[in-house]
Formats: sequence, structure tokens, C-alpha cells
Amino acid sequence: MKILSIDTSCDETAVAVTDGRKTFSNAIYSQILIHKKWGGVVPSLAKRAHEERIDLVIQEALQKAKLEMERIDAIAVTQGPGLAIALEVGINKAKELARTFHKKLIAVNHMEGHIYSCFAQNSRGNPKRDFSFPYLALLVSGGHTELVLLKNHLDYEIIGSTRDDAAGEALDKAGKLLGLGYPAGEVIERLANEIGNKDMYDFPRPMLSSGDLNFSFSGLKTSFYYFLKKMEEKEKIKNIRELASSFQSAVFDSLVAKLEKAMEKTGISQVLVGGGVANNQTLRRKIRLLVKKHTGLVYFPPYKYLNSDNAAMIGIVASYKAERGIYVGDINSLDRIPRLRLGG
Ligand code: ZN
Repeated sequence: MKILSIDTSCDETAVAVTDGRKTFSNAIYSQILIHKKWGGVVPSLAKRAHEERIDLVIQEALQKAKLEMERIDAIAVTQGPGLAIALEVGINKAKELARTFHKKLIAVNHMEGHIYSCFAQNSRGNPKRDFSFPYLALLVSGGHTELVLLKNHLDYEIIGSTRDDAAGEALDKAGKLLGLGYPAGEVIERLANEIGNKDMYDFPRPMLSSGDLNFSFSGLKTSFYYFLKKMEEKEKIKNIRELASSFQSAVFDSLVAKLEKAMEKTGISQVLVGGGVANNQTLRRKIRLLVKKHTGLVYFPPYKYLNSDNAAMIGIVASYKAERGIYVGDINSLDRIPRLRLGG
């Protein structure tokens, strides 16, 4: 079943053509350069850029897949979570396509997309990666930090989430304090690598003794802010690698500690990791070590483009929904849900 899927939840205009888990095309127009000078995503600018680009990105996805709209079997779209006015652009376009070409419509939660991105395949069906439930999924991005129990296909339970900032957001805010620009995650990773990921300053690891599986990064951010405030500018610049690396260590240690707690609590040692921060090789290494210690298994998204927001992951989820006959009943009534939750 060939599915054309659309995701406009944040700052990427993304369209893909998939069949089951196979990805035939994954077109993305990134708005990073638009938002960079504002130090974060500006919703009204995101909406306008999505509107300007979406038709081109759809054309590109179809061309790369060497398919015409007529040969597509269904349209899938991200319903939430995300920026309301950005989500709207994708949903309106998906409705228009479904109506014009008489296709069925499938609504997908962006976060289930990030989970299924671990099982995405290229057009030749690689990697194979068979399903063997249950899994624990750690979702880490600029907007989300969640631990999800995946009992079966499309069966989710959130068992932990952040009480304030997301992990990626914390890294971006720390980067801003260090004058590293936006987005800062990759710059922090590189600076930390240059000194072997040393943890010089031992910033607090929040929520470690909270007993639950929730995260919190705002306290860490505040302590980092006051730590920098006491430092002279010269000193700050001289120690920028150490500062970046120590902050990153604190964030990743809390992620790994809560993941371990979740593995112990649930007895599940099969782990999936998704979201933009999953791109970070230092985090990957830490998670691999943890999973090895518990003789488990871990899957990350197999290709780099699957870490950040993309529509292929939405199409893959949609194929499992289609198998179960889960379509949007009344196309006109489909609406965005900016705070859509998994399993809720
Ligand atoms: Zn995302």
C-alpha cells in the first residue's frame, strides 16, 4: 500500500512516499535558516514557510518515488503534537489531496512516528529488524522527553515525561548562554568531543532520587546560568569545551539513569530511541553501554534523516493503522491537536 505522508508539526516541511516500512522518498525542506536569527522557532514564520513550500515538497517526494498522485493509495498526516498553526498547513493540504484524488486519510501522532522511525527501511527493505514486543522507547528532541512503553503495534503507555524543558531544549538554552547560536545541540556535541566528553564541573543530575520516571531540566539550566554568571567572560571562553561537555553529561546522565530505572521497573530490556537528540553519538554510546549491561537490545533510527522530523516515519505508522482499518471517518472534521498525547 503506497502512502503519501505529510508532517508540518514544527520547522520542517516534510513529505514522504512509503510502502509498509519501505521508504521510496523522504523530501524535507528545513526552515532552520529562517528561525536561526530569532534563536528559536517562530510559529508565524513556520506557518508561512510551510504554506510556501508544501506543494513543491509534495512534488519532490512524488518525483523521487517515480509515482503520480493517482498511484498513491492513501494520504497520512501528522495531527499533533506540534505548533497549532504549523500543523494546520499539513492537515489542510492532506484533506485537499484526499478530497481531490479520492484517497483515504490517516491521522498520525508525531511521537508514534519517532518510535517507528527505528523500524524504517530503505527502498530495498533494509535493515530487516523484525518486531518483538514489548519495547521501551526513549523519545528525546527539542520538544519532547518521554519514556513510552510499547506493548504491541500502536499500543502505547507514557511511563515518564519531562516536568518542564525537553532535553533538546535544555541543550539549546545552555548553548545560548554559551553564545553558540541556535540550534546548539550539534555544536555542544562537537565541543564535548574535542575534550573526550570530560565532565569537569559535575552539574546536578536532576530527579535522580525522585523515585518516578519523570525528567526535569529547568533546575539544571538555572544552576548552569548562575555558574556562568560568576565566571569572567575570558574564563568562560577559555573553558567553553569543558562547560559544554559538563552540561551535556548532566543531561545525558539523567536520561540514561531514568531509562535504566524504567528497564528495571518494567523488566523490559529492548529499547528504541527516537527524536533529534538521538543523533548525538555520545548519547548513543551511553545508551548502548547501559543496554549491554542489561543484556538487552537497542535500536536507533537506522538512517540519519530519520532522527530529525520527517514524514517517512509518519507513513510507516500509517501503514499499521491502514492494516487495522483505522482511517479518518469524516475527512472534513479532521482537526489539529497541538497537545496530542500518546495512548491518551
Ligand atoms: Zn519530532
